[in-house]
Amino acid sequence: MAFPITRLRRLRHTDQLRNMVRETRLTPEGFVYPMFICPGEGLRKEVRSMPGVFNLSIDEAVKEAQEVHSLGIPAVILFGLPENKDEVATGAWADDGIVQQASRAIKRAVPNLILMGDVCLCEYMSHGHCGVVRKSPPPQSLGAMRRIMAVDSPGEKMKAIDGAATVITAHLAQPQFEIENDASLELLARTAVSLTRAGIDIIAPSDMMDGRVAAIRRALDDAQFYNTPILSYAAKFASGFYGPFREAADSAPQFGDRMSYQMDGANLREAMREIELDIEEGADMIMVKPAMPYLDVIAAARDRFDLPLAAYQVSGEYAMIEAAARNGWIERDRVMLESLLSIRRAGASIILTYYAKEAARLLA
Ligand SMILES: [Zn+2]
Repeated sequence: MAFPITRLRRLRHTDQLRNMVRETRLTPEGFVYPMFICPGEGLRKEVRSMPGVFNLSIDEAVKEAQEVHSLGIPAVILFGLPENKDEVATGAWADDGIVQQASRAIKRAVPNLILMGDVCLCEYMSHGHCGVVRKSPPPQSLGAMRRIMAVDSPGEKMKAIDGAATVITAHLAQPQFEIENDASLELLARTAVSLTRAGIDIIAPSDMMDGRVAAIRRALDDAQFYNTPILSYAAKFASGFYGPFREAADSAPQFGDRMSYQMDGANLREAMREIELDIEEGADMIMVKPAMPYLDVIAAARDRFDLPLAAYQVSGEYAMIEAAARNGWIERDRVMLESLLSIRRAGASIILTYYAKEAARLLA
């Protein structure tokens, strides 16, 4: 039946009609608010590239958690900025780690707020990578020395020295290194157990090492935390949209990039394989990150898998909206809600977002 019998505008005529036929609804019950915990007291330090988002000392984080809870948001996810970093990410798994301390304090003050613990090593590693790094020595330095020694003519010797120096300089400028998958698993599992012991309710591994979900599940079960669910960052893409987060969590890699463990943004089928493997390994919920540039991945995951599906509206998505709004180029509240609605419509029922508090206020 076509026009003039059918007129789709009939159902758009009033607020009440539009409300009744709305297909997707945004409610705070699906929001998770990310928080960055730093050492100190009475500290609220705004992240330069994420206006409205703060590094919080534990006492301030407790206040923030109370506010989050009072707005009807069920959960927060905690990230830590440790006092010290090293090569084995001690701050991630130490009993008195910054997130462990914060989680005890928040649990005491707001027992009904769900605490998610992001499990990764990058914030706690001196090199800023998400796993254990093995650096290789400068290539062929011994061989080069022998060749130089073996040359007789001074001119040839200088040439040989120049050649070796070029190779070594290139190596120093771009050191060869490897993120060691299996060695990282042990530290990630240890972190998960330590966080759970401190009161974290849901373990959320974000490192993208192969086999981490199984390793974490095994370690949690060994420690008798059978009922602690795992929300795996199953399809986490290597993305430029993480820029502001790295300032917020002080976790930028000191060398290289994360392309060898995070996913290539071009790959949808591989994302489905990542998710499938995490489910086989024991994930209870799955996540796609970032959200808006990967709505098709969210929709495909929703179509294919039956687990609760989360999406992370990342720092760059937030920063873009904030920047444009501050310039008067877009209507902030409207775009904020529309961006969240798009993620919900694509199929994510849980949304991790820096807008959780403000969206909850607008939706109340
Ligand atoms: Zn990481």
